[in-house]
Amino acid sequence: MAADHVDVLIVGAGLSGIGAAVHLGRDCPGKTYAVLEARGAIGGTWDLFRYPGIRSDSDMYTLGYSFKPWTDPKAIADGDSIRAYVRQTAREYDVERHIRFHHRAVRAEWDSATARWTVHARRDDTGEDVTITCGFLFTNSGYYRYDSGYTPRFPGVERYAGTLVHPQHWPDDLDYTGKRVVVIGSGATAVTLVPAMAERAAHVTMLQRSPTYVIALPSRDPFADAARRWLPPKAAYTVARWKNVALGVANFQLSRRAPGVVKRFLRRAAKGRLPAGYDVERHFSPRYDPWDQRLCVVPDGDLFTVLREGRASVVTDTIDTFTEHGLRLASGEELPADIVVTATGLNLLALGGMTLAVDGADVDLASTVAYKGMMLSGVPNFAMTIGYTNASWTLKADLVATYVCRLLRHLDETGQQIVTPLAPDTDDLAPIIDLQSGYVLRAVDQLPKQGPRAPWRLHQNYPRDVRLMRHGPLTDGVRFARAGVPAAATSGGTDA
Ligand SMILES: Cc1cc2nc3c(=O)[nH]c(=O)nc-3n(C[C@H](O)[C@H](O)[C@H](O)COP(=O)(O)OP(=O)(O)OC[C@H]3O[C@@H](n4cnc5c(N)ncnc54)[C@H](O)[C@@H]3O)c2cc1C
Repeated sequence: MAADHVDVLIVGAGLSGIGAAVHLGRDCPGKTYAVLEARGAIGGTWDLFRYPGIRSDSDMYTLGYSFKPWTDPKAIADGDSIRAYVRQTAREYDVERHIRFHHRAVRAEWDSATARWTVHARRDDTGEDVTITCGFLFTNSGYYRYDSGYTPRFPGVERYAGTLVHPQHWPDDLDYTGKRVVVIGSGATAVTLVPAMAERAAHVTMLQRSPTYVIALPSRDPFADAARRWLPPKAAYTVARWKNVALGVANFQLSRRAPGVVKRFLRRAAKGRLPAGYDVERHFSPRYDPWDQRLCVVPDGDLFTVLREGRASVVTDTIDTFTEHGLRLASGEELPADIVVTATGLNLLALGGMTLAVDGADVDLASTVAYKGMMLSGVPNFAMTIGYTNASWTLKADLVATYVCRLLRHLDETGQQIVTPLAPDTDDLAPIIDLQSGYVLRAVDQLPKQGPRAPWRLHQNYPRDVRLMRHGPLTDGVRFARAGVPAAATSGGTDA
């Protein structure tokens, strides 16, 4: 394909990229755009992950798009339904024909003289290198590596004669019927896998080094069901969405202000679902405060049900070594296993591995500061989608796309071509992601920073961001310019 030009280039055709394209088509109908997608399918996370039981752990009224009601009665949905919803959105809003599959964006170079990005992509199907230019670059590439999940180095793993699987690369033909399974991990993936595999396995053991907060929520939302009975779909969706936003904000604020209260509540709730005498302290009482890491949701308490019924168990211990037939733990206990699933997490990856350069100088992401959580200091005409850590990803993705469209219209209305966030004048910088989870801590040094105040601070608060991004000013902390003004002239400090 010859080098060509679009007004906006979106990278990624997952939940966010498809949403971004819909917003662009609706709010900026005159703009041309293309979507580069490294894989051969729409859906990102919801197409990649195929392990048993794969589902959301947020409710779909907030994980769904603002513009497309989630009408399925399941409030916590399986991966297939979410993938179908994203694909249907792409079809319904005529996004599909803009997607270039098997195009992996690898590098983007900004040139202030022409006010254009030149984006280099590699076609994974043909091996061809492709170049596309655009006026605005909008990455929606998720937050982790697709080619490999995270697996720590386990001693003795080479001796193990059973089947070792990472949930990110689930074999289609893995038959676990009647098998002894050990799932290593305690995060969202582990708590999903354990009840799902316990349906057919002989027994499933969740082996965790330390516990996670786990909360049971109903898989159907009676409030949303009632709203659907009485209101038109769009109105029913909106009220269910705002109800869940309000509950989420209240839950997060309470966890931050009175962690002891929330801890006791979560412990008591777990205890109520487990058999008498169960060691809740050891297996379900983390050392950290709620929301220092994401809370794990289990629909209808399915994890607790399989533990109560003895089809699964939790072991809290560290691995001494893999053996030929399973695992030996630090306590000396042996865990026999036909299959070991390493639900040990993801490898964080910023911008889908793409590198950036501005007017010939490489951008060091770690020395940039995120503006409104979606642009980078010193990087012109660029936005990225990073969802909330304490609420559904799509809430933020929708706001980012709305803001990008507002910015594009503002540029047109004012006859400018370039918008560049100016680095805040402060050393008081913090990591962009404030979770203490292992996958965050392993990579946080390579990521952009956030500042102490708006527009440089991420508040992780949807109602506040609605005010800021849908209705707030477009001109704070940025400089607008016409083509030809070098980006270097736009670095230089705003008040943080
Ligand atoms: C198992 C699992 C469960 C989750 N459950 C929830 C949940 O319940 N609630 C929630 O809020 N969040 C959840 N998340 C976070 C989840 O990733 C987001 O909800 C959402 O799917 C992110 O969408 P995205 O489009 O931004 O990223 P992704 O879904 O990661 O999609 C990114 C797309 O970009 C493409 N891409 C990446 N790099 C490039 C490149 N260089 N060039 C071209 N294309 C590229 C990828 O191939 C992919 O198609 C979950 C994550 C995982 C892994």
